[in-house]
Amino acid sequence: MKYIYGPVPSRRLGLSLGINIVPYKTCSYNCIYCEVGKTTRLTVKRKSFFSPDEIIQEFCDYINKVGKLNYVTLSGSGEPTLNKDIGVLINRVKDETDKPVAVLTNGSLLWMDEVKKELKNADVIIPSLDAASENMFKMINRPHPSLNINRIIEGIKDFTQSFKGKLWLEVLLVRGMNDTKDETRKIAEAINVINPSKVQLGTVTRPGVEDYALPVAAEKLNSIKEELTKLCHAPVETIREFDKSNVDFLVNLDKAVLKMIAIRPCTLEDLTRAFDVDEQTMKATLEKLKQERSIEQGVFSGKMFFKGLNR
Ligand code: SF4
Repeated sequence: MKYIYGPVPSRRLGLSLGINIVPYKTCSYNCIYCEVGKTTRLTVKRKSFFSPDEIIQEFCDYINKVGKLNYVTLSGSGEPTLNKDIGVLINRVKDETDKPVAVLTNGSLLWMDEVKKELKNADVIIPSLDAASENMFKMINRPHPSLNINRIIEGIKDFTQSFKGKLWLEVLLVRGMNDTKDETRKIAEAINVINPSKVQLGTVTRPGVEDYALPVAAEKLNSIKEELTKLCHAPVETIREFDKSNVDFLVNLDKAVLKMIAIRPCTLEDLTRAFDVDEQTMKATLEKLKQERSIEQGVFSGKMFFKGLNR
């Protein structure tokens, strides 16, 4: 499959069937914590990358083979709003399934009228906001030079006012960077300007592009959550690890595992839960993929992760 992956155990959405609508690795940011990889095409130019008919055909062929599912998510190997066909794709996916459609976006293009219009029929939009000062924005997200954080915050605010679905703002904290009192206070002010349905606060949990992108300790994460709860009008929650799933796969397990870890590194536990198989079966699958040199493993933050080599 070229476009569809998962269902992925998402900490925010439960079990999410992903549709990757931008080529690897096309993004308006080059975040230090990115799990997908280093941005090779840093751009704000929107394009029609693939045939919408081809994407929808693959989606229709696959959707009935998936068991339990909470969301269909447009995201993938970069920033999905860079795809000019995103509005058409949202509408066509909604014609084919009654599952809610979510869009994971970095929010950097929401100030564009055409992007606002194209996203309006989604059920959930999850933009991210890791910084509210230009300096920190540049350090963490390393954006395209034409972008500035004030315009982005204004753009997300304007979109939120007109959007009929839910808008959950994701804030990802990186140790020693945006976890200071000063930065979190600025983020709180921006949250109040945007006025999202809720704020999802998380930290780095998987290996990213830079080895200095490290997680904030659980205690600190909780104290920042308390602080933001006091300062913000919107409810603030911390993103928990994915907890339960039961997916019936009528597809080859090797291929499904490979597809999932090509998009994001996963632990053995993530994979056994996502595919609802016992640990032994998953270990044997991973061993086979290792011998075929299709995957590699590495340790991040004390946990062993597996990731694909065929990118
Ligand atoms: S984390 Fe998201 S926004 Fe940042 S570089 Fe990766 S794909 Fe782009």
